[in-house]
Amino acid sequence: MSIDINSAWEELKNRVQNCQKCKLCEQRHNTVFGEGPVENCKVMIIGEGPGEEEDLSGRPFIGPAGQLLTKILEQGGGIPRSSVYIANIVKCRPPDNRNPEQEEMLACSEYIEAQLLLLRPKIVVAMGNISAQWLLKSKQGITKLRGQWLDWRGIKLFPMFHPSYLLRNASRAKGSPKDLTWQDIKALKLKIDEIN
Ligand code: SF4
Repeated sequence: MSIDINSAWEELKNRVQNCQKCKLCEQRHNTVFGEGPVENCKVMIIGEGPGEEEDLSGRPFIGPAGQLLTKILEQGGGIPRSSVYIANIVKCRPPDNRNPEQEEMLACSEYIEAQLLLLRPKIVVAMGNISAQWLLKSKQGITKLRGQWLDWRGIKLFPMFHPSYLLRNASRAKGSPKDLTWQDIKALKLKIDEIN
């Protein structure tokens, strides 16, 4: 990372920490900026917003859904969690884990867009309906979008089911969300190997 990008990254983080652009700032304990490699970032995973554990710790995807994400990456795809950058569309927790509202995503979108433009990952994984629809400006559901190689401003975009959805749908039967996710993570690994 060059000095300029480094300072831009720290400045962005600072702005997020102090942000009061939407009402989600009122109940937060911490903003959740994201974590992972900033230099030579190949893959960025983007979820919708922090949950309770993430709000309390300031770290993304560390609750039950985050633990499942780690398992999917590492056991399903052979992709170390530490090799991907993980962030969310909104940086503050929506109360009671509700979906972020359009105006909250709109207010926060400058930060995720700045992160994307600074990191320039080769691949973005849109985790779940909210993230995929927001990035693609699509009304199609994740069931239709998942597993396809799409485009976000010249970056490969790959939607997948959100791990919290998988926690609510435990079946491993053929064609179930878990089964499809197992296929998707292998497709993601193949693409990562291709671009290496
Ligand atoms: S969710 Fe985003 S826009 Fe809203 S207060 Fe938090 S950082 Fe600011």
